[in-house]
Amino acid sequence: MPDTFGSGATALVSIGSLVTNDPFHGTGPLGLITDAALVVEDGRITWVGSSADCGPADHVIDLDGRVVLPGFVDSHAHPVFAGDRAGEFAARMAGEQYAAGGIRTTVAATRAATDEDLRARLARLTSEFHASGITTFEAKSGYGLTVHDEQRSLRLAREVTDETTYLGAHVVPQEFADDPEAYVSLVTGAMLDACAPHARWIDVFCDRGAFGADQARTILAAGIERGLLPRIHANQLQHGDGIRVAVEMGAASADHCTFASDEDLALLADSGTVATLLPGAEFSTRSPYPDARRFIAAGVTVALATDCNPGSSYTTSMPFCIAVAVRDMHMTPDQAVWSATAGGARALRREDVGVVAVGARADLLSLNAPSHTHLAYRPGVDLVDRVWQAPLTPKVAP
Ligand SMILES: [Zn+2]
Repeated sequence: MPDTFGSGATALVSIGSLVTNDPFHGTGPLGLITDAALVVEDGRITWVGSSADCGPADHVIDLDGRVVLPGFVDSHAHPVFAGDRAGEFAARMAGEQYAAGGIRTTVAATRAATDEDLRARLARLTSEFHASGITTFEAKSGYGLTVHDEQRSLRLAREVTDETTYLGAHVVPQEFADDPEAYVSLVTGAMLDACAPHARWIDVFCDRGAFGADQARTILAAGIERGLLPRIHANQLQHGDGIRVAVEMGAASADHCTFASDEDLALLADSGTVATLLPGAEFSTRSPYPDARRFIAAGVTVALATDCNPGSSYTTSMPFCIAVAVRDMHMTPDQAVWSATAGGARALRREDVGVVAVGARADLLSLNAPSHTHLAYRPGVDLVDRVWQAPLTPKVAP
C-alpha cells in the first residue's frame, strides 16, 4: 500500500529534482525545480519551492537528492476480471493475430467468479499499480456483459477508485451474436440503468469485430443522457470512424489511436479530446506503434496509460509504458513523463492530480534515480522508491 502522510504539516526536503508539470513555477515543459521542497497538510500540497526557503513543519522527510514526481495517472485500465490468457499470448507470439473476440474468454471466467475472487484479484492489481507509482487509476467494467455482472464489476471497482467506467459495449457477447442490435438495446437500457449509479464514465469499443460508429454514437448518447461522461476505444485495429465519433460526442479521450489519419489528428487538435496511447497493447499484440511525435507535432494532447487487461496488455507498470513510448513511439523522456502524469489527468478531466501545485492532492512518488529520464533510460529496473497517496473517498452507491 502507498504511504500516507500523518496529521499536521509534513515537509519533503532535499528533493534533487521535482517534476511539477507547472511551467510557470519551474523550468521547461515539466516545470522542474532543482533542490526543491514541498509541504503537505490534510492530504493536499500547501507549499512548493526551493529547499532553502522551506519553513518548519511537524514532520520532515529527507529525500537525499532523489527525484519526486506527481503520482502517475493511469486513465485506461480493465482490472476487474478473472482468469488469464497466457496461452493466447504465447500463440500470438508464435504468429497468430489478435482479434477482439478473445475478450469472450475472459467474460466466461469473470461471470463464473465469486465477488470474493474478483475483489481479491482487484486488490492484487491495485497494489501492483501502487508499486509502479500509479496513484490514480481508471477501472472499466466490460467482462461481465450481463446486467448483473456489469453492475457488480462497477460496484467492486468503486471500492478502489472514483474513476469507474461502464463498458457494457466492450464486445457483443456470444448469446447476442445473431442479434447485436438487441445487445445495444440492453446496453443503453436496463444495463445502463443498473450501472449508471456506480460509474463516472461510459466507454465503447468502436472497432472491427466490436461496435460500429452509429452504434457507438447511440451508446455514448444514452450514457450522456444519464449523466455519464464519454470516452472511447478508437482505431486500435484499423483506420475507422472512432476518433471522429469521439470528437463529435465531446469525449474526454480517444484511446489507442494506433491508426490515425492526418484528418483525425486535426480533429483531435481542435477539440477537448485527449489521445490516450497504450504502448502495452502494441507491445503485447506485436502491432505497429502509433508515432506519438506526430500527434504532438499536430497539437494533440497525449496521455499514456497501461490498458491493463488480460488479453492485450497485462501490465500494471507505468515505467514500462514510459520506456516503450520513448523507444517505440518516439516520445522524448520529458513528453512521456508528462503524458503519464498531467496527460492522464487531462484524459480524466482532473485538475487535482498529475501536478505538484498548491491545492493539488498529495499523490507523489520518489525515484531511486537522479533524474526522471532514468524511467526510460533504465528500462525494466524498479526505480520506484516511495509512493504517497492522499486518502481516497470512495463513493458508496445506493
Ligand atoms: Zn482498453
